[in-house]
Amino acid sequence: MVTPGAAVVGGGISGIACARALAEAGLAVRVLERGRRPGGRMAGRTLHGRAVDLGASYLTVPDGSPFAPVVADWVRRGLARPWTDTFAVAGPDGVTGTTTGPVRYGAAGGLRSLVVDLAEVLDVVLEHTVEAVRVDGDGRPTVDGDAVDAVVLAMPDPQAQRLLDPQAPGVPVLDPDSWRPVLAVALGFPQRSWPADLHGAFVHDSPVLDWLADDGDRRGDGAPVLVAHSTAAFAGQHLADPERAVPALTAAVRRLLDLDAEPEWTHVHRWAYARPGSPREQEFTLTGRVGVCGDGWSAPPRVESAWRSGTALGRRLAATLAH
Ligand SMILES: Cc1cc2nc3c(=O)[nH]c(=O)nc-3n(C[C@H](O)[C@H](O)[C@H](O)COP(=O)(O)OP(=O)(O)OC[C@H]3O[C@@H](n4cnc5c(N)ncnc54)[C@H](O)[C@@H]3O)c2cc1C
Repeated sequence: MVTPGAAVVGGGISGIACARALAEAGLAVRVLERGRRPGGRMAGRTLHGRAVDLGASYLTVPDGSPFAPVVADWVRRGLARPWTDTFAVAGPDGVTGTTTGPVRYGAAGGLRSLVVDLAEVLDVVLEHTVEAVRVDGDGRPTVDGDAVDAVVLAMPDPQAQRLLDPQAPGVPVLDPDSWRPVLAVALGFPQRSWPADLHGAFVHDSPVLDWLADDGDRRGDGAPVLVAHSTAAFAGQHLADPERAVPALTAAVRRLLDLDAEPEWTHVHRWAYARPGSPREQEFTLTGRVGVCGDGWSAPPRVESAWRSGTALGRRLAATLAH
């Protein structure tokens, strides 16, 4: 496939933000995404007739963040909604208190819909898996053999590392070994039988459960659906066969909320590279004409920092290519 101008590999929020910054600077840019839709780790799935968020649970906007106008625009257009600033704090046996922090935003159409919205103005090729990124003797990158002006890898380090030849000179140095997995399990119940003000719960001291979200509350339709995220250690034991992890995660959720009912249905999703173990303060890396961005940069790792990382790299690359 001939790619004009710059290629951005990865259609998560960092890649889409990077491509928008390049396009806003007047450069030709194409996003190559292996999935059927943009979104990456802000993905969800339609389960039993409604979208359920299975990746990021919510997004936040720190004071003064340049991401704030983007989120305000989503809220104004009804795409994003302020969810809550208060979550439960729990141990394995139940809720022990609450904690209040920044406003968390959800999306009625699922968080993925926000990335899809940002991608609408871009040239995005879906269901296209890139196999190799190389740099020739003149420092010019190629994507699966096609020469491009510049290439951005907007993805977790282990995925970016697979595309590069780490022995070759002129490629970015990455940290592929520290990324941690998470299993996300959606649980559909016959009815809501947990406290209306639960919203979500940070779970401490459980070997299995790390976080629990009320998906009906977050999305605003009141559906009796919870989404549980596992600890990294538990996910690591079940990466080969995540279905086998469902009974233990379900039992941990029922114990925590003292639920009598079994879920009517469950769905598990494996995130092999959910979070960077060693997120960097540096906003991105750019070696020659090969850049890497995403939530492994611009710490702490979250939606807002992935957007900032991609935007900053896109602006820098646009300035570099202009000279
Ligand atoms: C379980 C979980 C819970 C989270 N909770 C929160 C939260 O509550 N709040 C928050 O702010 N953040 C949260 N996060 C983090 C947040 O989801 C990420 O910070 C953000 O989505 C990262 O975006 P990204 O663009 O850097 O990477 P990604 O979203 O991972 O995008 C990378 C993209 O690259 C594509 N790709 C990879 N390899 C190739 C290839 N070879 N060819 C083509 N395409 C390729 C992938 O398909 C993917 O779409 C959570 C993440 C997970 C997994």
